[in-house]
Amino acid sequence: MDANMRALGASSKLVLKGEHQSIHQTASNVVEMGFDSSSDNSDAFNLNAAAHPINSAVEIPTIHVSDDAGSQDGSDEDGDEWAIESIFEDSFPEMEDNHLYDGTPNTCTYEEAMQYRQELRDVGPEVFIQRTIDAKTITAKKLLTAFGMKPPEYLEMCDDDAYYSLLSLAISRELSKRVKLPAYNSVDDAVELIKKSSNIIVLTGAGISTSLGIPDFRSAGTGLYSKLAHLDLNDPQEVFDISKFRENPKIFYSVARDLITDEPRTTPTHAFIALLQQKGKLLTNYSQNIDNIEATAGILPEKLVQCHGSFATASCIECRYQVPGTTIYPSIRAEKIPQCPRCIERLQTSKTSHPMKRKRSSNGQKKKKKRFDGVSDSDSEGTYDIPEPGVMKPDITFFGEPLPDRFSDRLTNHDKDKVDLVIVIGTSLKVAPVSEVVPFLPPHIPQMYISREPVSHVNFDVDMLGDCDVVVAELCERAGWELKHEMIPKDQKIEVETVEGFRSRHRFTVVK
Ligand SMILES: [Zn+2]
Repeated sequence: MDANMRALGASSKLVLKGEHQSIHQTASNVVEMGFDSSSDNSDAFNLNAAAHPINSAVEIPTIHVSDDAGSQDGSDEDGDEWAIESIFEDSFPEMEDNHLYDGTPNTCTYEEAMQYRQELRDVGPEVFIQRTIDAKTITAKKLLTAFGMKPPEYLEMCDDDAYYSLLSLAISRELSKRVKLPAYNSVDDAVELIKKSSNIIVLTGAGISTSLGIPDFRSAGTGLYSKLAHLDLNDPQEVFDISKFRENPKIFYSVARDLITDEPRTTPTHAFIALLQQKGKLLTNYSQNIDNIEATAGILPEKLVQCHGSFATASCIECRYQVPGTTIYPSIRAEKIPQCPRCIERLQTSKTSHPMKRKRSSNGQKKKKKRFDGVSDSDSEGTYDIPEPGVMKPDITFFGEPLPDRFSDRLTNHDKDKVDLVIVIGTSLKVAPVSEVVPFLPPHIPQMYISREPVSHVNFDVDMLGDCDVVVAELCERAGWELKHEMIPKDQKIEVETVEGFRSRHRFTVVK
């Protein structure tokens, strides 16, 4: 084994962070794996080429991973995670498994890929490397494709050992994935699982609300962000940035009306989750959505975790006074900034006793000091302003705000040992904290996926592709359950086709 291969062996030993991994860890697993942090006690992983002497030709951006997610100090955890994802995706172009199958030159076929993945599991990374790269039975460049990684163009003219560090990453990443359970493949397998399970976790994302015209709110380039061009922001995420909100709440309130529904509507997918609850099968619905449609659909508060908060309530950013979310809907619809009624009341009281009170600086700096604590601030540039009440903000989690505690509490202390089936609907599972749920749960629990397109970073047992409203209608039909919803056309006919080359991947289309 030469030095390069030793390096490869060493870093591929750095493996699974499975159950002991904090679910609060901001880093998405894909980034975290494959980098030997043991030699470097700092909490920032360095993906720079310099840290990988094995291949100085690879230019990989440095990624700093903060591990203080979930802390209460208002660190920009979501912002970091966002950056990590996009850097990862730019640097390591992934191949979806269906590209493996189509016979692109110098890529493994789907069958070869499955064999290599199995062999890696069976013999471990060291022996696997001996049998493949050391024995020269396959190039590192081609072997990359077996793990869903596309050889990057910038390495095209390099020797094969230029691919070793990427291969090491690919292997580590593969080993950290849950292994698909071979027993479940068909749509009928999925139906049987749903029928026999009694503690189902349903993970939902923006895809389940888009049929009501609610934009997908975190996807850059699509959905809500594309509507923000006229706002002249450096980054569309600034709409959901807590310090920007404190600086200028107008930005948020100019788009917020698009995030609320005009009338209490639900989708067939929401009705499906409610039906699971009605049949005593719903353990928890973890939703990434902030539209609060789950509540409209009748999901009980104790069975619902809105991972990014929701419009269900709103709070004053100064005094934390909380009101039902609908209280501020008229302001949201009028694109006006709602003000805190309690602040207004206190102001009116204090006006009569202290007519010339100094306004606290509102320059967006973090100041924990209460505005109306009776102490006049000396940092407001000496001007005397008319005091203003605090601004009301919907209790959705902004970038820079901690995630709701209920998420990790419920998952670790309640759900983990009870769950018997996981159904992921309408999310690509790339945004924490929901992305951390699947790797956190026991791997023998069946997991199924319902979305328009498959994902390659998670191995589900059954993939059901298509419009989620259509997929759930077909599942209920086959289960003999009546899914009542006005958006399901009478006599709807759905065709299910198994995707060529995949036993467990099925595409649902409406034919009538
Ligand atoms: Zn207030």
